[in-house]
Amino acid sequence: MLVVESDPERMLELLVGLPDVNVLGVVEGRPLEVHVECRWSRPGCPECGVPAHLKDQRVVIVVDLPCFGKPTRLAWHKRRWRCPDGDCPNRSWTERDERIASVRLALTDRGGRWATVEVGRFGGSVKEVAEVLGCDWHTVHDAVLAYGEALVDHPDRFAAVQALGLDEVLFVREGPYRRQQFSTSIVDVGRGQLLDVVPGRRGAEPAAWLENKGREWLAAVEVATLDLSGTYRAVFDATVPHAARVADPFHVVKLANEKLDECRRRVQNETLGHRGRKHDPLYRSRRLLTMADERLEEHGRSKLLGLLRAGDPKGEVATAWHAKETVRELYCHDDAALALSFVDRLADDMVDPVQPVEVRSLGRTLRRWRLKIAAWHDWHVSNGPTEAMNNLIKRVKRVAFGFTNFANYRIRALLYAGRPDWSLIGSVTPR
Ligand SMILES: [Zn+2]
Repeated sequence: MLVVESDPERMLELLVGLPDVNVLGVVEGRPLEVHVECRWSRPGCPECGVPAHLKDQRVVIVVDLPCFGKPTRLAWHKRRWRCPDGDCPNRSWTERDERIASVRLALTDRGGRWATVEVGRFGGSVKEVAEVLGCDWHTVHDAVLAYGEALVDHPDRFAAVQALGLDEVLFVREGPYRRQQFSTSIVDVGRGQLLDVVPGRRGAEPAAWLENKGREWLAAVEVATLDLSGTYRAVFDATVPHAARVADPFHVVKLANEKLDECRRRVQNETLGHRGRKHDPLYRSRRLLTMADERLEEHGRSKLLGLLRAGDPKGEVATAWHAKETVRELYCHDDAALALSFVDRLADDMVDPVQPVEVRSLGRTLRRWRLKIAAWHDWHVSNGPTEAMNNLIKRVKRVAFGFTNFANYRIRALLYAGRPDWSLIGSVTPR
C-alpha cells in the first residue's frame, strides 16, 4: 500500500534529506534558506573526555543543491562546545559533520559530489554549474578539485596495462611571451584510457611516473607505442625494455603529411618567390593534398591535379603527395613480414637522389624506424586513442578557458578522459 507521509516535521525531513538533522525552518527568498541543526547528545571533550558545555552557536551558510529549481542555501546552526576542565588544553571546538559539508568547502557534501559529476563526467563548465547553484565560480571549482582528486587518484584506476603510450600535449601558453608549456599524457592505448598527465615532454617525468608504478606493473606491459621522436623511446628503453615497440601509424602518416607540406611551401617559394597567397595554385591545393585520397571525390581529384599542373612545374609536390599516399597504404597490409618488405622498398625509392629533398628525409626516417613500423602489423595498437585523449583534454581546456595551474589541469583532464570509476563518487573522501 502506498504510504503518504503527512506529518509536517517528517515531511520536511524527507524533503531536506540530510542525515540526523532537525529542520528549524525555511526563509523565503532567492536563494531559499533552509535552517538546520544537528541532532545531538552532549559530547565529551575530544582531548580529556569530560562532558562538554555548550558555549554558543553560529550560523554557517553553505551552498546546497537547488530545491525544486530554486538556488538553495543550507543555514547550518553549528554549536560550539567548550571543555569545563580548566587544565585541559582543549578550550573550545565547533561541531562538524562531513556528511553535511566538509569544513574546507563552501558547498554541501552532496552538492560537491553532484558538481564533480557535472563538470568532470559530463564536461560541463564550472561557470554553468555555478549558475545553476547560484554561487560563485570558486565554490564549484574548489569542490570539483577536492572530490575529483580523490576519484582520479583511486588506486583501482591504475590496473594492469598491456599497451602503453606516451604523447606530448600543449598544456598552456604562459608568461609575457606566451611560451608554450607541454605535458606528457600517459595512456593505456589498449583500453583508450588516460592514466595520467605529467608536466614537461623531456622524458624525466614520465620515466619517474612509470618507475613509481613498480616492477610488477611494468612487467605486465607487453607493447609500447611511439611517436617518431627519440625522447619517449628512451623512456621505454629504461622502464619497459622487454616490451615490443610499435611506431604509431598516426604519427607516421602525420610525418608524411608534414613533409608534403614542407615540399609545397618550398616549391611555392621557388616558383613564385613569395609565401602562399590566396590565389596561388599550390596554396589553394593545401587542403586537398592532406586529405586522404579515397576521400577526394572525382571533382576534388581533378581539381587537385589541375592545381598541381599549374603550380608544380617539376612535379615535386605531386611526388610528395604520392609518397604520403603510399605511406598510408602501408596500413592496408595485414602481414608484418609483407609490411616490412613494403617499408624497405618504399624507403629505398624515397632516398633516391632524384627525389625531392623532403621525400628523401621521409625515406630516411622510415628506414630508421622500419622494424617498429612493421611491428604495428603484429599488434594493431596505436596512439590513435591517445590522440583522442588529447582532443578531450583540449576540449576540457577550452571549457575551462585555459588552465594555469598544472594540478588543476591534471584533475580535470583525468576526470574527463581518465575513466575514473564514477560509482565511487558517492563514497570517496574529498581531499
Ligand atoms: Zn577537555
